[in-house]
Amino acid sequence: MKSVLIGVGQAGGKLARELVEYDERMGFDAVRGAVAVNTAKNDLRELPFETVLIGQDRVKGQGVGGDNELGAEVMQSDSREVLSALEGDITAGTESIFVVAGLGGGTGSGGAPVLTKELKRIYDVPVYGLGILPGRDEGALYQVNAGRSLKTFAREADALLLVDNDAFRSTGESLTEGFDAINEEIAKRVGLLLAAGEVVDGVAESVVDSSEIINTLRDGGIAAIGYASAEAASDPEENINTVMSNARRALLTGSSLPDATDADAALLIVAGDNDSIPRKGVERARRWVEEETGSLQVRGGDFPLSSDRLATLVLLGGVERSDRLETFMERAQEAQAAETDLSGDDPADQWTNDDLDSLL
Ligand code: GDP
Repeated sequence: MKSVLIGVGQAGGKLARELVEYDERMGFDAVRGAVAVNTAKNDLRELPFETVLIGQDRVKGQGVGGDNELGAEVMQSDSREVLSALEGDITAGTESIFVVAGLGGGTGSGGAPVLTKELKRIYDVPVYGLGILPGRDEGALYQVNAGRSLKTFAREADALLLVDNDAFRSTGESLTEGFDAINEEIAKRVGLLLAAGEVVDGVAESVVDSSEIINTLRDGGIAAIGYASAEAASDPEENINTVMSNARRALLTGSSLPDATDADAALLIVAGDNDSIPRKGVERARRWVEEETGSLQVRGGDFPLSSDRLATLVLLGGVERSDRLETFMERAQEAQAAETDLSGDDPADQWTNDDLDSLL
């Protein structure tokens, strides 16, 4: 799926860079352009693609701190500059646009939903969000910011692919080492997903294409993506169990949003050498995903590439009723209640009620 990336804020810029570098390293060429936007000049310095500094009249290149309302306002005033920076990148061949941001900060949290709304007014291709949720140890401001941004971003984007910063964390890492590791995990998942719709080596029976990704995300809302891989045997019969166990691990322990397994739709992609992918294994794994997600809309397909491993990607669409998100919304609501003395009701209602103010 030929895509253009827009990283908003510090995390957004870093993650967009990771995605660009992964796509280049793997020779996929699915990422057809990237732009980074920030209010903080320093955070744009080392990015290897076009950058746009917004809000100079208000914050003089110093960033908005954690003020995501200011982040939203500044994007509203300066979105035209961002849109003109994108003009060269978005062509007739572009199949989707991804707005990438950390939801807990200021610039990305406030700016990404505003920019998404503007992009949707102009372009016909889907505009997806790729949003990072703060880990549970991050402070109350991050949780409240992310709750408000999430609600608005999910409404404006065609779908919002979420990554929980607690998902890929290992013990003993510094925060920065941890971020780098998380960014690599996300880049692998999203990079493979975009490349899967592009194809590639050989003619497989059931190669995934971009329309299956778009259809899986068609109903909007929140999406998540899981991944797992293992060494492949050369005889496909011997790989049936591998494909099954990869699918289980992708969904149950390798997801960008842990514990989000109830979904409206899903796409299972098995990547590996064309001759080693077992048809029977893919079909069995697809049926397992149907049972596990409770969805009758589970698509499946191959991504042929030369590798001695087999990997499974599981894209889930419509996971907003999951326990993981309800836990997060509860956390955001409690953090906001502690600030404003609101009483906490059912966290699931946060998608529709006004306790967490929408940003737009
Ligand atoms: P902004 O520049 O004002 O948009 O703020 P940030 O992008 O720094 O957003 C802060 C949030 O993003 C916090 O919740 C951080 O945990 C998270 N964050 C910052 N940098 C990274 C990163 O490189 N990777 C990941 N996964 N999260 C990050």
